[in-house]
Amino acid sequence: MITIRDLRKVYGSFVALDTFNEEINAGEIFGVIGQSGAGKSTLIRCINRLETPTSGRVIVAGQDITALSGSDLRRARQQMGMIFQHFNLLSSRTAAENIAMPLEVMGYSRLRIKARVAELLSLVELEGKGDSYPAQLSGGQKQRVGIARALAADPKVLLSDEATSALDPQTTQSILSLLKKLNQQIGLTILLITHDMGVVKRICDRVAILEQGKVIERGRVVDLAAQP
Ligand code: ADP
Ligand code: ADP
Repeated sequence: MITIRDLRKVYGSFVALDTFNEEINAGEIFGVIGQSGAGKSTLIRCINRLETPTSGRVIVAGQDITALSGSDLRRARQQMGMIFQHFNLLSSRTAAENIAMPLEVMGYSRLRIKARVAELLSLVELEGKGDSYPAQLSGGQKQRVGIARALAADPKVLLSDEATSALDPQTTQSILSLLKKLNQQIGLTILLITHDMGVVKRICDRVAILEQGKVIERGRVVDLAAQP
């Protein structure tokens, strides 16, 4: 589902990401773990093309993301939902209006938007909260809105950038359970970056450990967890 080949990002003479290679399968939850500054955000930003890689290729659902621009890139990006540590919701808009944003961009009719938003609110277990503003929601509820918005355009891939890092342990568990449910229920492929090994052990199938831009270890989580 995501093929990453020889991906490099260099700022001036500083190598933020050094020749990253990975094949992430459809339906897999893949974790990238590392400390602050390891290059995790750089990786995710090169995949969704918020950054242009210095070299290498990223192929998502058969499409070479690194070769696209303009409207082709915008369309390819709809295959990738993204969630964030600080949720990135618009505070002046209700939960339902936040979730509707990608659908408005895609030119959906009001009626279709209404139906799809209701479906998404139910998917993330937030029925009845559509008219609430972000300030009226808990951190976990805000992230559920973020997840619903990320899934609005029915992407094949979800990119998660420290999505539970601002949440307490109990809320973290409930969000991870939701991600696992979405993975199983709608076959969502998830690439998540985190600094928390607990998150990796809880839901990831495989993990790569990043240090100073380089992968220093990779493998199946069950195998890593079995090590002393
Ligand atoms: P992480 O997400 O793992 O904390 P980042 O990918 O944000 O790490 O950053 C990796 C390294 O690249 C850091 O040392 C950071 O300072 C550097 N870096 C990130 N973006 C830029 C940039 N635009 N210009 C220069 N250096 C950058
Ligand atoms: P995050 O919270 O995801 O780690 P950062 O705070 O590291 O993000 O980076 C925020 C923005 O600043 C990004 O656009 C990143 O590319 C840029 N940035 C990070 N480190 C540097 C740096 N050393 N020099 C220039 N820009 C940087």
